[in-house]
Amino acid sequence: MFIGLSKCKKNRYFLGICRKAKTMSKVVTRIAPSPTGDMHIGTARTALFNWLYARGRHGKFLLRIEDTDKGRSTQAAKDAILTGMAWLGLDFDGDPISQSERAPRHIEIAYKLLETGQAYKCFLSEYEINELRSLAIKNKSAAAFRSPWREAPPSTFPNKPFVIRIKAPQSGATIINDEVQGNISIQNNQLDDMVLLRSDGTPVYMLAVAVDDHDMGVTHIIRGDDHLNNAARQNLIYSALNWNIPVYAHIPLIHGEDGKKLSKRNLATSVIEYKKMGYPASAMRNYLARLGWSHGDDEFFTDEQAKKWFDLQHIGKSPSRFDFKKLSNISKLHIANTDNAALLHELIEYLNVVDHPRLAQNHLNGLLRSLDFTKSSVKSFPELIEKNSFILKDRPITIDPDVREKIEEFPLKTLKILTPQLQNVKWDRSELEELLNSVCEQVELKFRTVAPILRAALAGSSKTPSVFDMMTVLGREETIERLIEFEVKYNKEI
Ligand code: GLU
Repeated sequence: MFIGLSKCKKNRYFLGICRKAKTMSKVVTRIAPSPTGDMHIGTARTALFNWLYARGRHGKFLLRIEDTDKGRSTQAAKDAILTGMAWLGLDFDGDPISQSERAPRHIEIAYKLLETGQAYKCFLSEYEINELRSLAIKNKSAAAFRSPWREAPPSTFPNKPFVIRIKAPQSGATIINDEVQGNISIQNNQLDDMVLLRSDGTPVYMLAVAVDDHDMGVTHIIRGDDHLNNAARQNLIYSALNWNIPVYAHIPLIHGEDGKKLSKRNLATSVIEYKKMGYPASAMRNYLARLGWSHGDDEFFTDEQAKKWFDLQHIGKSPSRFDFKKLSNISKLHIANTDNAALLHELIEYLNVVDHPRLAQNHLNGLLRSLDFTKSSVKSFPELIEKNSFILKDRPITIDPDVREKIEEFPLKTLKILTPQLQNVKWDRSELEELLNSVCEQVELKFRTVAPILRAALAGSSKTPSVFDMMTVLGREETIERLIEFEVKYNKEI
């Protein structure tokens, strides 16, 4: 049954005190994904919010895999969650907790509620439940479901299978103090006597979540607002057991670039697809943090800043729209600001995930030297690879078809004059620049006429870093070899 929600302004002062008391204890947050497919981008953002909130407060961040739905949970999906978390650098405390393995504890709690009279055995058959529901519809009754077995004495119990239902309060209201959505009050007569334990003895999801969150000591539940209705039901369980109710923050969902609800059609929904697109994890963390939360006008920030700044007050109330342009801009800044060794490490991981052949050691060494010149102008790893393709090529250098035309009109004597002089010049950017300018003067050509040919000779392409940067990275020997090879080849062809 759908639970109607209405905003409640009462009890603000009292609730404020409660919240303050709670936030003083050590913060424990969690991400509780259901392993039913790839790790979703929304799950990644929720995990990130929980991680930032806990890590910024010296708290704990836990992972619980909600694998009670045996039909839909798969090992591949569990692995995808772990891989996604690892890629995003969202480290969690302790081992992942499997919800299904905790079933005995969920059952124990259902029986505890039965013992204390907060729950009851219900012997209604499926048919009888449907009859009661039809009757309620016929009578236009909006009241929540109450079983006739609710107050039945044990002496009347038949020898039949039963479910255990919670005894929802008949009057009053259940209040959710939500840090994002505000205070929400649900009349208790709108809350069903929900089933806790099915007739086959298995616990329901709602019970499992409440028990697990309590046992894990979770103080703050930050999750998608599609779970807001569940909070009321979970609160019933907390209250029946006299447990502390956690602080809630139900965050609006992510929408696609078209402003519509997220689907595979309007956005890549799986986290790993972003890794395959070549965005660094730090950029994803930064971008996802901004997706629904803000710190003034700050768009680009480090993990340390995000941990310090992240709060629940600045989570927006409306759905956030995914914006690839923003992600790309943030990614560019992260690539430019990452130190070379770490960047190379992440680049290798990217190449692995897109099944790129392993790079030879000389290519890795070249890349490392080249990053200083190439990392500041690219938005993703594929662009970084393209920029560095000159270093990843071995001789003979293949020439892109679009640069061949220019070669045919070029006086190769320029190279004949230049190459021998490269033997003796000091191998440094300004000396190389000086030498090239003087050769250009000698052959009466502008550098901009010579540069494309040097690009072609050194990289086989027109999209390269500057000629001087390439020479610096390639070194004297390789530069000269490439120029000679080019000269010999085109001397013959032209
Ligand atoms: N397992 C739920 C999901 O994957 C999350 C439940 C919760 O956070 O309470 O959407």
